[in-house]
Amino acid sequence: MNEKSTLKIEHARFIITVDPQRRIITDGAIVITGDRITEVGKTAELAHVPAERIIDASEMVITPGFCNGHLHVSYAHAVRGIFPDNLDANDYLAYVFKLQSAMEEEEEYYTSLLAITELLKYGTTCFLDPGSTKYLDACLDVYEKSGCRIIVGSQVVDQPNPINLPQLTLSEAVSRMEDTIQKYDGRLNGRVRAWAMPFSAEYSSTELLKSAKRLADEHQTGMTMHQVNNPGVIEAYLQNFGQLPIEYLEDIGVLGPNVLLSHSFGLSDSEIAILARTDTKVAVCPSASLKMGMSVTTKGRLPEMLAAGVCVGLGTDAGNNSNLIETMRSMYLTSVLYNDTQQATGVVPTETVVEMATIQGARALGLDGEIGSLEVGKRADLVLFDTRRPEWRTLHNPINNLVFNADGRSVHTVIVDGRIVVEDHKPMYIDEWELIQKVQGLGEGLLARTGVEFPTRWPVV
Ligand SMILES: [Zn+2]
Repeated sequence: MNEKSTLKIEHARFIITVDPQRRIITDGAIVITGDRITEVGKTAELAHVPAERIIDASEMVITPGFCNGHLHVSYAHAVRGIFPDNLDANDYLAYVFKLQSAMEEEEEYYTSLLAITELLKYGTTCFLDPGSTKYLDACLDVYEKSGCRIIVGSQVVDQPNPINLPQLTLSEAVSRMEDTIQKYDGRLNGRVRAWAMPFSAEYSSTELLKSAKRLADEHQTGMTMHQVNNPGVIEAYLQNFGQLPIEYLEDIGVLGPNVLLSHSFGLSDSEIAILARTDTKVAVCPSASLKMGMSVTTKGRLPEMLAAGVCVGLGTDAGNNSNLIETMRSMYLTSVLYNDTQQATGVVPTETVVEMATIQGARALGLDGEIGSLEVGKRADLVLFDTRRPEWRTLHNPINNLVFNADGRSVHTVIVDGRIVVEDHKPMYIDEWELIQKVQGLGEGLLARTGVEFPTRWPVV
């Protein structure tokens, strides 16, 4: 869509705006001019506004595009589902990085394209890839073609690690992060942002962490890393630094509003208070945590983080540990998990979960000024759900239906930056089945080349 083109969506049954008043507009309309929203209101109020194209959204529910704050996008789709369900977390990561480091440019290109197609088709318009993509030049074409909004980086460590991550020198790690930020931040009309991305604090030197934060500050961008306080990690920090991990990170100056910690497991009350005080952001990944047996309902402490005022967005992690990468399924899990632990209802309210997928998710990514709600002046990232489907009916409260009944299958149309990227459930930029077949072939080749294989429990005849 060029700068001057206009698109009007009208007669929406409900528009869930997530604006400051949290208005839900019935018989609503949205006008998009170029890449931005220029009108939001009732269809009747906007009847006089002309547009080059009009979409009839009768019986549709419109939401902001969803944000996924933690998703390794680039390799898993070639080898999805190969890991046995009982693979230990450390063994799992060693295989992940073995396969990932063996990936070639063509493989990364097409697996990224398929993963992004899955994301867009099910309503996720913006996501953070925590630095796992190796061939960013090639993948920039994927981001351009598909129209997604993405945060990229280079995942680095400078300490020995048991998970096959290449150990760089401090200066190599810092210059790799800086080069990536300089080269990619702001590309594609600002749809691409680039952040500093050490893999995790425990495999990074203090100097590397400080340098990553300095880069994020100097370039006015962000920093993300994995943060899982399992008992071994806590013990190591107490032994080495006499502090809990988050206390240590605050002490060395690497927390703050532009820092996003993924998972954030095993935090103490004092550590949660530090995250709130420093406005450090969090992305929780309930589907991955559940599948990997991380005790999310006891160590995840999401209700405590929310109560303390920590800004928490939703993630899924990768297509090969979470397996599912659909933000909506993270919404569902987040809304029900803690009820079970606390033997109560509404522990994480449905509206809070929608905020986590939209405006709070955008804030966790430093993008709430641009996306995360349907308001005049914001970038036009939105999702149209077709509610003429059994799982959406009956329809009285669209928030409850969105979180508890619906999933990505009902996503009809997706718009990012004013461009229609999915229409009538189909991606507009690719032959989907051709792409799927291509990635199937690439996956078979990658497994054969690396010799990675696992027996199945049932005979495949
Ligand atoms: Zn991860």
